[in-house]
Amino acid sequence: MKNAVKGAANGARPRPGSGAQLSFGEEFGEGRGEGRCAGRRRRGFGNGRPRAANGAVNGAAKRRANGAAPAARRLTLTGQASAVVFVEQMLRQAVAFGASDAHLEKYEHCARLRYRLDGVLRRIETGAFLFNEYTSVSTRIKLLAGLDIAEHRLPQDGRFSFSCEHGAADVRVSVVPLISGERIVLRILDSGGFDSALDHLGMGGAELALFRRALRMSQGMILVTGPTGSGKTTTLYAALRELNGEPGGELGGAPGGAPGGEGINILTAEDPVERRIEGINQVEVRESIGLGFADALRAFLRQDPEVILVGEIRDLETADIAMKAGLTGHLVMSTLHTASVAGTITRLVNIGLPEYLVGAALTLVVSQRLVRAICPHCREPCPAQALPPLPPALVAAQLHRGRGCAHCHHTGHAGRCAIYEMVMMDEDLRRAVSAYSAAPAKVTQQINERRLCSLQEAGQKLLRDGVISPAEYVRVLT
Ligand SMILES: [Zn+2]
Repeated sequence: MKNAVKGAANGARPRPGSGAQLSFGEEFGEGRGEGRCAGRRRRGFGNGRPRAANGAVNGAAKRRANGAAPAARRLTLTGQASAVVFVEQMLRQAVAFGASDAHLEKYEHCARLRYRLDGVLRRIETGAFLFNEYTSVSTRIKLLAGLDIAEHRLPQDGRFSFSCEHGAADVRVSVVPLISGERIVLRILDSGGFDSALDHLGMGGAELALFRRALRMSQGMILVTGPTGSGKTTTLYAALRELNGEPGGELGGAPGGAPGGEGINILTAEDPVERRIEGINQVEVRESIGLGFADALRAFLRQDPEVILVGEIRDLETADIAMKAGLTGHLVMSTLHTASVAGTITRLVNIGLPEYLVGAALTLVVSQRLVRAICPHCREPCPAQALPPLPPALVAAQLHRGRGCAHCHHTGHAGRCAIYEMVMMDEDLRRAVSAYSAAPAKVTQQINERRLCSLQEAGQKLLRDGVISPAEYVRVLT
């Protein structure tokens, strides 16, 4: 069994050999049976995600027959001998579960550990251990991340890398002092979900063709939008891999018909770099040393790139440089936190970009969401009395939900699927966007005419097909 934890402070790369080499013994007790899964590589957004077997799940949850939501069973992490073992066991469990984050917090009378699974926080029972040993646990995490263990008043950030038989992960640590103790979030990067090819992201044939058409262009800007946790980065990574000429991609090169991979220069500015890809030049932005997205972009333009990925557009300066780069012979891809395609145009104009620039530079706008799929092992018809308020068209349909079983940690969900709203710019739409202030409604109308389907329509199809539950539809799409 090979396990390793390597530490590094404040965003620096892990120093080889600098961290403690740890091994797991037999003292894990209940934890030993966890996550005995074949492998951790996933396709798409968590479909087929390996789950921990059953060692981690206990507690009683009888299915209620009265139509109320199925009760969630508890996930546990118990049997720790020390803070060191607890932290190791937590990381192993989080990686085995495919969690994106682990949250630790302490209150006056309790402490709480939660994992973000499929986008939703799930509490992990730790008995009294975490409350009693909270300081030791936080000290251990700080040591791993190369942080100042004596500092309890200021926020700190660090990172370390971790590997076990379930997989490897870079872990970003954020510590924020609360009045009741330090709150710690471990963001688990590279823990799966990014190995997807474009074909595996759940795009329909027409959507995929549209997306690839935009990727083939030698210039312009592709924006992928949605709230945090909507899978934007996964979509862009899939696009990068295809441009990089990796197997499975149909593109085999582009843009401008150039050969892929070897034939083009791809640069990315990310915060953080979530997945390292051979053949792609990735820069991690660090505002603390004056390397923001805009700074990285300016430097990129002197590096003779074909393709530029900007992790996120947060301000006018970044947006302006990225748009102009898209107009001057570069294919630029980025993300924006907006709710819809129409909302994206509005945001770009509102942050101060000239309308003509938005109209001229944009090629494709994608708005996307991730929805949790019903677990196939415990799928059941949803009783009418358990239905949340839904659009009238859906009320008559037979809808489904997950009852909760050992396969899905008693959540009723297994994996996620993405839904998309896509609009390709054309001359009429460009003209409308260039005159946005004079007639914003015209832009919305043209977008509605051009999109293949709205997010709501895509969600309703999944709902009718029994892929997602009514509660999930309401959570994400209303
Ligand atoms: Zn299930």
